[in-house]
Amino acid sequence: MPQAVRNLDTPGQWQLFELADLPEEERVAVEDAIAAYHRSTNPEFRAGACAVAEDGTRVARHNEFEGQEGHAEMLALTSLYRAVSPTEKKLKLLALAASAPDEELARIPQKYGKRVKFDDIEGESICGRCRKFISDYTGNFIGDDGKNNPNDRGPIILMVAATGQILRTDLRTLYPKPHLPRQISLEPLEQNITGSPDRYGAK
Ligand SMILES: [Zn+2]
Repeated sequence: MPQAVRNLDTPGQWQLFELADLPEEERVAVEDAIAAYHRSTNPEFRAGACAVAEDGTRVARHNEFEGQEGHAEMLALTSLYRAVSPTEKKLKLLALAASAPDEELARIPQKYGKRVKFDDIEGESICGRCRKFISDYTGNFIGDDGKNNPNDRGPIILMVAATGQILRTDLRTLYPKPHLPRQISLEPLEQNITGSPDRYGAK
């Protein structure tokens, strides 16, 4: 079997904080997400999310519908984008608080220590659809040249762990190899049409 070029390792960038130790803007966003979580009456899943734009505008929403529509993260982000001016639309951070309806948000009494591994941190995580939604909607990974900017970590993502501690990471860590939306030039297609067999006649 050929040797792997590079072995899989743990996701690059994450930290674990007590809520009170977060930078103030992040702490307030998590508190807003937790308040929204407590307003959710969804019988399948309870979630609250808070999205903050680069200009500091902050919007929190809870999930509204059953099933796969109306995730709190998507609602918070679309509401935020309606609230801020087009030039301020870059997403700075997004916070999520979520649990099953019959579970407490903080349900593990023993806090995680310094040696905890990323994958061992329990608590609800942002779903794959929302990761893609945030990536597509913000375009945060795309540089001015329209290409993937590998130095752009995307918005900060904060998730309430089952211990009540806050998992602080970024979209790049959660969504490391995104499909990038792009505009395709029509030129090659037009050339192709010009040179099509119809034009020159079939042999
Ligand atoms: Zn989701």
